[in-house]
Amino acid sequence: MSKFLSKRLQNLEAYVPGEQPKGEKFIKLNTNESPYSPPKQALDVLAQYGATLNYYNDPDCKKLTEIFAKYHGVDENKVVFANGSDEILVFCYMTFCDQNIGICYPDITYGFYDVYADLFCLDGEKVPLNDDLTIDITKFFNKNKTVVLANPNAPSGIALSLNEIEQIVQNNPKNVVIIDEAYVDFGGESASVLTDKYENLVVCGTFSKSRNLAGGRLGYAIAHKGLAEDLNRVKYSFNPYNVGTLAQILGIISIEQDEYFKECVGKIVDTREKFTNDLEKLGFYVIPSKTNFVFAKNDKIHGSKLYNLLREKKTLVRHFKNERICEFIRISIGTQEEMDTVIVQLAEILEENNA
Ligand SMILES: *Cc1c(COP(=O)(O)O)cnc(C)c1O
Repeated sequence: MSKFLSKRLQNLEAYVPGEQPKGEKFIKLNTNESPYSPPKQALDVLAQYGATLNYYNDPDCKKLTEIFAKYHGVDENKVVFANGSDEILVFCYMTFCDQNIGICYPDITYGFYDVYADLFCLDGEKVPLNDDLTIDITKFFNKNKTVVLANPNAPSGIALSLNEIEQIVQNNPKNVVIIDEAYVDFGGESASVLTDKYENLVVCGTFSKSRNLAGGRLGYAIAHKGLAEDLNRVKYSFNPYNVGTLAQILGIISIEQDEYFKECVGKIVDTREKFTNDLEKLGFYVIPSKTNFVFAKNDKIHGSKLYNLLREKKTLVRHFKNERICEFIRISIGTQEEMDTVIVQLAEILEENNA
């Protein structure tokens, strides 16, 4: 750290992203990416559009917004795009929070909610989950501060119903509720249908997980039009060109190739169900997942040990040190072949450790 670092950032602990291995070959199940490629039409993009990269991209993402809004059945003026949904979350923090307002989120959830609270010097309140990692929705009623919830939640993989989300939104009339739907396509119910009815609801989502475009960097918000206008005010004050030409085109192609999207999501969901079953047969406790990952533990072997032993076998998964969940590992769903390999590796590990 230099002597010039702002005082307010001296205790900031940065988010630690999952490992992105260079060179060495791993089965990569640690950051909830899709194992499938973008649609093959996307692979020709550079040949078709690369030549226009000397010009700035469309800051309004007009064409992408049109096709996306139609797909979701919402008005175009309710949609905002960003460089990944992480950037949408940052815009939400910048737009709807300050020291007077504050923000709250579950104690076990997506790590960035807490990091952003620190980054923006907010008093982030961690609302405890139940012992089984479910959310008691009444603990999120009348918070009088911004609420941010991942639905389905991570890393538990547990989803709230649309009705439960609506109750949370209804019971926070004086503040904004942000519902982060990064994993909604794998089995959740989207709250975007409520964004006309409630002036305090922002739904955000990403093309990174279910749309096979983690490296393309494209995220969105669907919000009540007043809130979308506020988010655009901040976006245009920060970086109007946040979504590059290629990301916009990739997004359009992804929505056009709807059958391919549904096919990939269908495969992930089928693989998830089979993998869950196979883990249970090995004696794992697996939380039923509505996402593209599972959160699992085995009473005979600790999560950190499992993480290390899998890594030795060239499979990357995610382990979290927080003591409420340190016995678990989070395993992204790859291809069926990858998951079959992981089951073999886990069986070996259990045997080698007399577990
Ligand atoms: C992966 C993830 C994101 C971020 O997605 P990007 O669009 O890649 O920035 C946001 N929220 C949750 C809960 C996630 O798991």
